[in-house]
Amino acid sequence: MLDRAEGIYMWDTDGKRYIDGSSGAMVSNIGHSNPAVLDAMRAQMKKSTFGYRLHFQTEASELLAAKTAALAPEGLNKIFFVSGGSEAVESTLKMARRYALTQGQSQRFKMISRYPSYHGCTLGALAITGYAPMAAPFDPMMMRMPKVAAPRAYLDGLDADDPATGLHYANMLEAKILEEGADTVLAFIVEPVGGASTGALVPPAGYMQRIREICTHYGVLLIHDEVMTGGGRTGHFFGAEHWGVVPDLVSISKGFGGGYVPLGAMIARDDIVEAVMSAGGFIQSFTYAGNPLACAAGCAVLDEIEKHDLTGNGARMGDVLAQRLHGLMQRYPLIGDVRGKGLLTAFELMADRDTKAPLPAALNAHSRLVDIAYDNGLIIYSRRTRGGTSGDHFLVCPPMIWCSRTRPATWLISCRSWAKAVAPVSNSNVM
Ligand code: PMP
Repeated sequence: MLDRAEGIYMWDTDGKRYIDGSSGAMVSNIGHSNPAVLDAMRAQMKKSTFGYRLHFQTEASELLAAKTAALAPEGLNKIFFVSGGSEAVESTLKMARRYALTQGQSQRFKMISRYPSYHGCTLGALAITGYAPMAAPFDPMMMRMPKVAAPRAYLDGLDADDPATGLHYANMLEAKILEEGADTVLAFIVEPVGGASTGALVPPAGYMQRIREICTHYGVLLIHDEVMTGGGRTGHFFGAEHWGVVPDLVSISKGFGGGYVPLGAMIARDDIVEAVMSAGGFIQSFTYAGNPLACAAGCAVLDEIEKHDLTGNGARMGDVLAQRLHGLMQRYPLIGDVRGKGLLTAFELMADRDTKAPLPAALNAHSRLVDIAYDNGLIIYSRRTRGGTSGDHFLVCPPMIWCSRTRPATWLISCRSWAKAVAPVSNSNVM
């Protein structure tokens, strides 16, 4: 039972303190109980907490839209607010379809995504999510969309720094577009750095750029799902900035509201929105969209990121973290891979680093390590990866305020204790 939280720490109702080593689900990027955000929320609450967006715009929503557009890539200045990641993704899909209709391309409806991937739990977002166990029960209720393999070079024995590797995976998209019929494909959606499903998977050299070229060539809209990567976590405000690639539509959430309020947004290319608006409008509405309290908190979160250069700090601390995790990897053969960008970092446990064989599923390592970490006062985020069938990865994503002043030593000791604790477990095959 959570009692309170402040900075990188959380306390349960028994008074035990934990380090929030995953920022919840990669949400609390600026830490908990930030006084400036709380003040901004209090100030907004005194003015108004709700104004229906079809009746009023508010100063808070106008300001947040302007701030977001200023951060977004050039040519993407239209912001549609929502209350979470799934809603943001749904909005990008619907905007893509509406745009195709304005272009006389009603035959375009297929949305290609990757396997594995995670884009949300509402039926539209689930149809493009590459995680069969989560989607399967709803198969009769939705149209599952085509998938291409996520570029897991480390599993396929390929060199992620070799541009030929990026080309190899990106060309799978071209093959899929041709297989499906190029004029039927509406959009391709990609997480710039993979999140929950792939564990901080960084695309190989040249991949993101080639994907952009392919989409442009076939008139397929490119959607960047920055729900987890947006907000500075990877060392740039948007993850895709690492590769200088500009998408057509973007979804953002999690760190955008920083855990203070449910908040997300679709960010769209100006001409896409203009075409849709002049053809009758977007006709998509969530009652709480553009809520003034959420927008005021969002403004304050963005201000704090900028004022304290938290994105830069995340990049710097990400380097330290990666170095330390690689150090652990050298000492513990159980850690088969360390990957990520900035403070979106992960390590994966394997039974055999050379063959990449996963730990036996029966070991349940992913949930056992979570328990061990809890005992050590550390909250971590784990997943069974590789499509939910094998492999255990752990996202190591402390808030971007994480720095030497907030005692990383404690955190690293906890980190080492996971590896120590799980080693005898895996060796003896004890369940
Ligand atoms: N897209 C991505 C990349 C995500 O990581 C998530 C959440 N893990 C979502 C979409 C869905 O967001 P939400 O849970 O806020 O609906």
